[in-house]
Amino acid sequence: MHALRTGAAFGLAALFLLLIPGTAKTGSQVTVATDDTTYAACGRVFSDPHAYWPSSAQSAGRSPFAKGNAACAAKDFISYSDMVSGLSYLEGLFPRFVEFYRLEQDFGAGADCASTVSLTAYCSAGLPRQGVPNQRVRSDLYMVRVTDESVSDKGKKLFVFPLSIHGIERAGAEAGVRATEDLSTWAACEAKVAGPLVNCAREGAIPHPLMETTPSASVTAGDALRRTAIYFVFPNPDGWRRGDIDNLARFYQRYNGNGVDANRDWPSLGYTFDPYTPWSEPETKGFGKVLKQIRGKWDGGIDLHGQLIDRAFSFTLLGASERNYAKNQRILQTVKGAWQDAEARLSWSPVIKPNDAAQDDPRLYGVQWGTVWDTIDYTTTGALGDWIDSPLGLDADGIDNEMSMSHISNCGVGSCYLTDFEQLHVDGNKSLVYAMVNYTLQPEDTAFRVPGKVAYVYSPKVLENSGRLVTIPKSRKLQPQAPIHTQLTPANDFTHTFTIKGTADNVFNGGVEAKATPVNVAAVSGFSLTKLSLERYRFGEATPEDGGCNADDDNWEVVNQYYNQSSIYLQAGQAVHGNMPLPGVYRVCLTGGLATQIAASGGSVELDITFSKQKAWEDPGQKPYRVTNMKFFDDLNQQMSANQLVKVTSDDVLSGAVDLSAFTSVVVADEALPGYSEQPPAGAAQPSEVYEPPAKAAATAPCAWPTSPALPPTCYADYEFDVNPAFNNQQLTVRLTAPDTGVNDWDLYVERQSRITGEWFQVGKSASSSSVEATTLLTPPAGHYRVRIINWSGTVPPSKLEILFSNVYAGPPIAPSTRTSADAQAWGAKLRAYAEGGGNLVLTDGALRNLAHMGVVGRSLINTFSAYAGYIGFTRDGQTDTYSDALAHNVNQPGAAEGDQHRHQTYEPVPIGYAIQDEDGADFNSSPIWAVDQIAWEQLGGRTVGTTTADQATLGELRLGSGKVRIIGALLPMPTEQYYHPFGLANYSLTYTGYQVLQNALTP
Ligand SMILES: [Zn+2]
Repeated sequence: MHALRTGAAFGLAALFLLLIPGTAKTGSQVTVATDDTTYAACGRVFSDPHAYWPSSAQSAGRSPFAKGNAACAAKDFISYSDMVSGLSYLEGLFPRFVEFYRLEQDFGAGADCASTVSLTAYCSAGLPRQGVPNQRVRSDLYMVRVTDESVSDKGKKLFVFPLSIHGIERAGAEAGVRATEDLSTWAACEAKVAGPLVNCAREGAIPHPLMETTPSASVTAGDALRRTAIYFVFPNPDGWRRGDIDNLARFYQRYNGNGVDANRDWPSLGYTFDPYTPWSEPETKGFGKVLKQIRGKWDGGIDLHGQLIDRAFSFTLLGASERNYAKNQRILQTVKGAWQDAEARLSWSPVIKPNDAAQDDPRLYGVQWGTVWDTIDYTTTGALGDWIDSPLGLDADGIDNEMSMSHISNCGVGSCYLTDFEQLHVDGNKSLVYAMVNYTLQPEDTAFRVPGKVAYVYSPKVLENSGRLVTIPKSRKLQPQAPIHTQLTPANDFTHTFTIKGTADNVFNGGVEAKATPVNVAAVSGFSLTKLSLERYRFGEATPEDGGCNADDDNWEVVNQYYNQSSIYLQAGQAVHGNMPLPGVYRVCLTGGLATQIAASGGSVELDITFSKQKAWEDPGQKPYRVTNMKFFDDLNQQMSANQLVKVTSDDVLSGAVDLSAFTSVVVADEALPGYSEQPPAGAAQPSEVYEPPAKAAATAPCAWPTSPALPPTCYADYEFDVNPAFNNQQLTVRLTAPDTGVNDWDLYVERQSRITGEWFQVGKSASSSSVEATTLLTPPAGHYRVRIINWSGTVPPSKLEILFSNVYAGPPIAPSTRTSADAQAWGAKLRAYAEGGGNLVLTDGALRNLAHMGVVGRSLINTFSAYAGYIGFTRDGQTDTYSDALAHNVNQPGAAEGDQHRHQTYEPVPIGYAIQDEDGADFNSSPIWAVDQIAWEQLGGRTVGTTTADQATLGELRLGSGKVRIIGALLPMPTEQYYHPFGLANYSLTYTGYQVLQNALTP
């Protein structure tokens, strides 16, 4: 899912435009068998890059798992039409096992995608093509199902594997079609129904194990297809077809034809980035609807992506959602099984190093697995893998995967076919697909084992919303308004003003979509330097005064703006969407000065405005929810022994009705004492600092860090400052402004210095490819900080650096306290007596405040602050790890990814509503962390096992009397309603590390 940054593709656009004629090829260099003669000659429909048959053995340094005859070895990417004809032939070869679906014909109204303008047809958005009727070439949408159709579907486990949703990431599609062929071939051979053309002897063992490297741990292919139905889907035809050689140029596209990232377009529980307008695109809406129609609840799925290159060849990313412990264990079994299989399956390649090789060994690790943030260092909303995982989506075990050298510029410019890497893509993705199917069919151990009886303190707090749904009135007789086709040109200032009608005019519009298509070459253009906007004229004004397109001024309200993730993909299409548009005057316009508009669009933009009965995007208004982090304990109880986990109330503890000493462990999660609340501090924030211009930054030279091993001193500039505890600093925003040109990339890091070692710890960053970089921290802890500005590929110096403090409280509403500080002291005394009497007291998140109520440390030494996601760094000093500590047991598992400074994410921000972006898309750090001052903690004799930023202890233990208190500062916060969450909220979002740390803490 990696978005390529500008720096990595420096000058790509200019180079590409020069290269178009040279890259045009005729004729495919891939042999896909679509008739009996070719199939007989090749041995497979889709022969592998390392195909070596009929030789009986593969040569050294090449994949022993490759299929097909050497004469047909693939030398290029499979094209969209190759995929269609190859899978059609495969369906004829193995009709009992393969069902190839064309969505509009099999699930829709049967419209012709080449000509339909319907927003609900199962067709792609359409690849831009100037001069073609409707300006777009819409494609049919396909998926293929592999199962044993002689066995009833009832009770079968269902899996979905989306292939190359980002068109430039070919690894998924290359592997998926070949996995389809493996499964159907092996199952047909096993059932002895393969036709005379199929050489079953050539396939090795029949029945064939799914896991070719560990046959003894594997189901057979025939068994797997009797018990499962496996769907491979092709969600991005436009992005794929732009790179096919019959489209003139080898320049695959991340986006669909509307210039929209389909992997940001899926609805999901929790925080949602508004500009993504979930389910606005026909591909996502179409596949989503069809998959949900097949069955409401699926078993698993992996969204197969690519990336340029990283420390590991492949990253397996666990999706973000509310996962109970059973689901956590099931997914771990799959990813660890896939990891183990891949370690063996990829070892033929000289570029892959074993898991125990040194970090500075220049080869790549095979596979690492972890949360999205632990692997690729950012996370996102609207991803397909999360939708697969979400109860709003397929409610299955959802995973994403990234494979290296499967991205634009994998060989310099464009996407090159690198034979050895393509074989690794095929092998690695088969490993994932087969491991998920195999391990889901095998039982796993889902018992949460800790000793003794465990009490948790119940908090009655819930977040509740009865919802406000946006629904389209049903059985409307009225038809939507007629479509509008026009042009945006210099003559009309790239603005088209029109009227949206209503029921008074005998029309009904549920949705409106405006699609723009500029002059382009094979769907490549510089159009992405402009931004399309749909705006509504506000009522009550005599004449629409123009504050400028995209100004969102008093006169024109922006309904929807094209979200421009990056201009480097040279997308030629843009689209904007609105729902239930009120009748009135509207306009569609492009931003950018006239010169930019002309240069970027070729001077003329085709504009299609289409109206629909249905919503144009899946705006739910506000879905209802009722959530509490206490649900975590209800769910955990299911995985523990009967009567082992007991709910206690603070009232019963305070009154003596419950004696805590009956419990081996007591957990207080987040709410320190239910009913007791603290008011936020009053007073002014410290003065802001502004550098205009930041002269030191301007004097740096570009270095495209971190592709080079060390950061050269000429590449960055530091601005140091202090966060002063004498002020009321509720928010800190650091913002760097640089002029927006095609390539001008500056990155921003905010770091805080350890008072113990002097080591710097990153607390925030903004490293997008846009001109403004900003990051916000809530209640930053006092200390010495620095802003580090890195000149990635700066072409124009930044104009301003702002270090802004605010005293505006940004946390959740605080209810008036129903308890006194005497209550809090009595409560603290009870907890202290429990620990001193030999108990194991576990305090998580906001419950760390009990250390003050217990009289262990002063309240001022307990800090709360925000991070990008909930995490613990398994280090005391920023350098050495603490993995050997009992509280860190099993955190550092074989193949597990870690972030900087031994960081492991403990909870996911998005499902429980914590924002990861501000309204402009810059990093926003809102996930709450609670910590004890590490120096004070250790002076008391406390052991620090984990920290979150410098000298803030978030995992550790302090002996008290004959017992102990343990802290976990980031685990189970209450969800938040502070940020946009139209699809509702999850109750909790522990990661696998979160579960592990809790289990360790509950093991005295
Ligand atoms: Zn991707």
